[in-house]
Amino acid sequence: MSQLLSGQVALVTGAAAGIGRATAQAFAREGIKVVVSDVDAQGGEATVELIRAAGGEATFIRCDVTRDAEVQALVAGTVAAYGRLDYAFNNAGIEIEQGKLADGQESEFDAIIGVNVKGVWLCMKHQIPVMLAQGGGAIVNTASVAGLGAAPKMSIYAASKHAVIGLTKSAAIEYAKKKVRINAVCPAVIDTDMFRRAYEVDPKKAEFAAAMHPVGRVGKVEEIASAVLYLCSDNAGFTTGIALPVDGGATAI
Ligand code: NAD
Repeated sequence: MSQLLSGQVALVTGAAAGIGRATAQAFAREGIKVVVSDVDAQGGEATVELIRAAGGEATFIRCDVTRDAEVQALVAGTVAAYGRLDYAFNNAGIEIEQGKLADGQESEFDAIIGVNVKGVWLCMKHQIPVMLAQGGGAIVNTASVAGLGAAPKMSIYAASKHAVIGLTKSAAIEYAKKKVRINAVCPAVIDTDMFRRAYEVDPKKAEFAAAMHPVGRVGKVEEIASAVLYLCSDNAGFTTGIALPVDGGATAI
């Protein structure tokens, strides 16, 4: 029982694949109208088709979250399509293995910070005024367990996800009395296409990834989706400004 209200409207970025697609589908199963957004139009349209085939309502709006004008147009397009914006899942992100810190490249820094930090900031910047005007809403940003601790050979990624948590907590306090709740979800390793491609090459790495989690396996995209729906729902009505690990116990070690 998610206690999301049928007929409400959700916006999901990075929804052409992986965690974003699964969460868009989960919203739609609850009767929520979903705006599916991504830079990948083909994958985004495929997510919309999956939702419609299952009887849900969704529309695709292409958006590069690093571009202010595109994010502004995405939020305006959501309101134009469905009249409001109740839930936003700011999930678009990129992950590049950079080697040790001194081996990182300026171009990698700009790319990772651009999508993972500026993208989340721009999304919230344009979503919050709409939620304030309609009397409330809920935002969930995708951070990572790499936002809660070290990520060797991925220091820029770790910095970007720590920044997502900083943005989330600060905004949550700023809008707490205005009925806009803002939280972050922190996945550990999740079984996505990206994960499978990387580990098909070296199955030993898959075993290593599973062993990183006390539960003995990597996570499922649906397990992140259900955490996001919980954080958006009235069940989490007293919860704002948290960074929720969904990590098979990884951060408890
Ligand atoms: P994914 O690559 O399947 O999905 C990410 C999506 O973001 C893609 O569809 C991609 O096209 C989109 N995207 C990239 N740059 C964009 C941009 N500039 N504008 C709009 N969309 C853009 O990966 P995923 O695993 O589903 O990752 C989703 C989120 O979860 C990311 O923020 C990632 O950092 C985070 N995360 C993933 C894992 C994991 O193990 N998969 C773990 C922790 C956190």
